[in-house]
Amino acid sequence: MDLKLYDTLTKDKRAFVPLDPRNVRMYVCGPTVYDFAHIGNARPVIVFDVLFRLLRHIYGDSHVTYVRNITDVDDKINDRALRDYPGLPLNEAIRKVTEKTATQFRADVDALGCLQPTVEPRATDFVLPRPDGKTDMVSLIKTLIDRGHAYEANGEVLFDTASMPDYGQLSGRKLEEQQAGARIAVDAHKKHAADFVLWKQSSADEPGWDSPWGRGRPGWHIECSAMSAAYLGETFDIHGGGLDLIFPHHENEIAQSRCAHGTHAMANYWLHNGFLQVEGEKMSKSLGNFVTINDLLETDKFGGKRWDGPTLRLAMLRTHYRQPIDWTVKGLEEAERTLRNWANILERNQTSFVDESAPANSVAAALADDLNTPMAIAEMHKLAEGARKDDLGSAQALHNSAKWLGIFDSSIFSSEALSSIGQAAVKLTSPEFQREISAKIEARTAARARKDWKESDRIRDELAAMGVAIKDSKEGTTWEIAR
Ligand code: AMP
Ligand code: ZN
Repeated sequence: MDLKLYDTLTKDKRAFVPLDPRNVRMYVCGPTVYDFAHIGNARPVIVFDVLFRLLRHIYGDSHVTYVRNITDVDDKINDRALRDYPGLPLNEAIRKVTEKTATQFRADVDALGCLQPTVEPRATDFVLPRPDGKTDMVSLIKTLIDRGHAYEANGEVLFDTASMPDYGQLSGRKLEEQQAGARIAVDAHKKHAADFVLWKQSSADEPGWDSPWGRGRPGWHIECSAMSAAYLGETFDIHGGGLDLIFPHHENEIAQSRCAHGTHAMANYWLHNGFLQVEGEKMSKSLGNFVTINDLLETDKFGGKRWDGPTLRLAMLRTHYRQPIDWTVKGLEEAERTLRNWANILERNQTSFVDESAPANSVAAALADDLNTPMAIAEMHKLAEGARKDDLGSAQALHNSAKWLGIFDSSIFSSEALSSIGQAAVKLTSPEFQREISAKIEARTAARARKDWKESDRIRDELAAMGVAIKDSKEGTTWEIAR
């Protein structure tokens, strides 16, 4: 299958060629864990989960490594720790905040049908050199200083942007422009306005680690340079995140990683999702126009009712990932109606389901075109149309695709329907069970051909005992789950 992806760095959509098809490697910037994640934060998680599923489909489940970090060192975390646990020592309070928030985040994105990434490293485990020798932030910063790409000033270590001739390629920002714009605001200790912090000092009431530059803590960007190299190597395939991360975060990750490793690329494809908006404005904590994933799932704060995970996920995927989404009650209602509609159609055809999770070819092909989820959903509507006309192949393909895409929830079937699908449907997940049925049907066909009716009936009874009913016609023998 030809996968094409749009690359923010080269500004074109081109064929995806992995460095190593036996280990396709993707890094996505994860949450800063100080508070509940809002539904805008869920957008990159869902978008890159679909890409993860597609890569696994194309290259095989065990041939894709997906790293999504957890940022557990940040001034917002300190503030929250001081506010929520004033009696505790700071380190303990911080640990409480980050653990609680990370657990909530996992529960939230789990409800949104997202698979766990292969690895979910925490930034604080990568500050100091590690016993396992995996890349760490302090060593990376040392290398940058040794190679003339960073300098110490005023107790900080700063990246020297002028030392990298092609700094600014991802965002298209020129160093000279930044210099001019920031003339007055330039901190006196910086050589250049665009120079950014790799390491800063910590006061006694801030978290800190002992380093060659005193007790301090890392800047934000260096975290991702360290954790991506630790698990994916110096150059890897795909780096993702929201549009707002292009500058400065990803620009600076590229500068650090390429200058530390002496490489031409940090990642070969840079993917960015558009914003989730409310009335034309980016949803964000600072604007106060946000609704958390948890609010949507557990309360009636948005639209006066709770929404289930598959509905939220489908509502998100109805828009192509690079376009802005307006998050509205109407959009959620439409997604909910679609899922209910599909569930009704599938319920009518349920008897012959083989419980599989795989995209229909048309669905996979749509997604292979730069993750065209609206097109994939349109293809699923076509399958639903076929299923409505009792085409079992379409029903099966719709079921499998919805399940694979993470928007099928068996609870959408009513409980009588589920019990009428019965045990056989559950067993049918197993390919061995299907092979067994096929073998029995073949044996029965052979018996009939030699007019051995006794043997033929015996096999029919055996199949019936397994919960399988067979039907003979001119075209041959077919089977379904016995009602
Ligand atoms: P943050 O916690 O702000 O660092 O964001 C975590 C991830 O969510 C990043 O990939 C952001 O780009 C993304 N993000 C934050 N707000 C939005 C939004 N309104 N729409 C889409 N993505 C967002
Ligand atoms: Zn990052």
